[in-house]
Amino acid sequence: MSAHDGMYIDGSWRPAVGKDTIDVVNPADEQVIGTVPAGTAADVDAAVRAARAALPGWAATAPAKRGEYLTALRDALAARQSEIAATVTAELGAPTGFAQRVHTGLPIAVAGSFAELAASYAFEEKIGSSTVLHEPVGVVCAITPWNYPLHQIVAKVAPALAAGCTVVLKPAEDTPLTAQLFAECVDAAGIPAGVFNLVTGLGPVAGQALAEHPDVDLVSFTGSTAVGKRIGALAGGAVKRVALELGGKSANVILPGADLAKAIATNVADVMRNTGQSCNALTRTLVHADQYEEAVRLAAETVASYIPGDPTDPEVRLGPVINAKQRERVRGYIAKGVDEGARVVTGGKDAPEGREKGYFVRPTVFADVTPQMTIARDEIFGPVLSFIKYETEDEAAAIANDSVYGLGGAVWAADKDEAVAFARRMQTGQVDINGGGFNILAPFGGYKESGVGRELGAHGLAEYLQTKSLQF
Ligand code: NAD
Repeated sequence: MSAHDGMYIDGSWRPAVGKDTIDVVNPADEQVIGTVPAGTAADVDAAVRAARAALPGWAATAPAKRGEYLTALRDALAARQSEIAATVTAELGAPTGFAQRVHTGLPIAVAGSFAELAASYAFEEKIGSSTVLHEPVGVVCAITPWNYPLHQIVAKVAPALAAGCTVVLKPAEDTPLTAQLFAECVDAAGIPAGVFNLVTGLGPVAGQALAEHPDVDLVSFTGSTAVGKRIGALAGGAVKRVALELGGKSANVILPGADLAKAIATNVADVMRNTGQSCNALTRTLVHADQYEEAVRLAAETVASYIPGDPTDPEVRLGPVINAKQRERVRGYIAKGVDEGARVVTGGKDAPEGREKGYFVRPTVFADVTPQMTIARDEIFGPVLSFIKYETEDEAAAIANDSVYGLGGAVWAADKDEAVAFARRMQTGQVDINGGGFNILAPFGGYKESGVGRELGAHGLAEYLQTKSLQF
């Protein structure tokens, strides 16, 4: 894979200040596929200066013109979609079809949605005798995780640019090559120098320097709850705007009378998606006692069709997890589930047959899981699904809400109104009703420790705006 040995700052690739580098590893075969510079506080400072210098011009650019630049960015991404998808497969291990359809198809659509929103958003409104202006917050620090390398970047950069903000991005250290391709697309789109800047590097070094930089106005972070809490505290101390998209432990509630086969097939596909590395994965399945064994049986049967393998093979639907640390984490949780008395219906902690090389784990279904068990409480971030039994709807609601997280959720019922009534009781940012899917214009984000703020659509754009009232 081709990799830049510099940072994209102020409209060009320039050498990093320090000499340290990061090796990028293909999780399917453990081979190094590229090397990128590990940024330091000095690189971050140069990038923030460039973003600050570009801010007045970009903020003053007419929103419709900013929309045109975003359309050009969408087109630049679309023109290189296959190449970016191949890069996502190489550095994340995502199966090729999924890399094309979701890892790149989704962010291309999201970039297009913000191109349209930039042109149509009401940046000015009348409230009684006042005129309210929605103005860009300023210089944005965007810190992104590896699990959806391009989508996480676009979900921050596109709304920030639409709003008139300038950006410094610090992408995840495991997936910097996708971020470099994104920067090339920004460049190809002709977006003015300094409006978008990229600093690759380690979280505790480059990420931290960026999050605490005094000339950053807003910190937008997606990643683990542990790091999110630190970043929230830093931002709070400096009275800076902050948006946090963190972990989840989402419940899939199947009410009596629902289409059980469809609910389980959808649930399994959801948890296997991206090898379980989706923050909104529906990893706790709540089933009524009368249907419980049947649901577990159906899940085990479906999971058996997900065989971990080479993600470049078009037949393969389940790739590796991102790195050795994550593999050990997932295996550790599976072992913990067994220790605490859960029943392994399929899968387990050993490496899948013939997959000793590469960071593969067995897709695993647990039954007899109680809400107190570690596997029912912690985010595992792997292809592991836990079945919990309930007797009454009230009990199901209590279990679903018994989590520090509140990101995703799903309800299945015979009747839509019944499902919606249950969804209203769920303390979570989004709920799929009878298999309803992802809407790129609807707000995405969490309740409780799953985060602060929303991404996507008009709500996502509003995160990057501050309001000023003109009183007459
Ligand atoms: P992570 O928190 O370790 O890293 C995320 C980003 O933060 C990376 O770019 C990393 O370099 C950076 N970082 C790490 N330490 C930092 C520090 N001290 N200061 C500043 N930046 C720092 O998380 P991860 O392992 O990359 O991602 C997995 C986690 O992200 C999971 O817990 C998952 O649920 C969560 N996630 C949430 C969402 C969401 O939308 N809510 C989406 C994707 C992932």
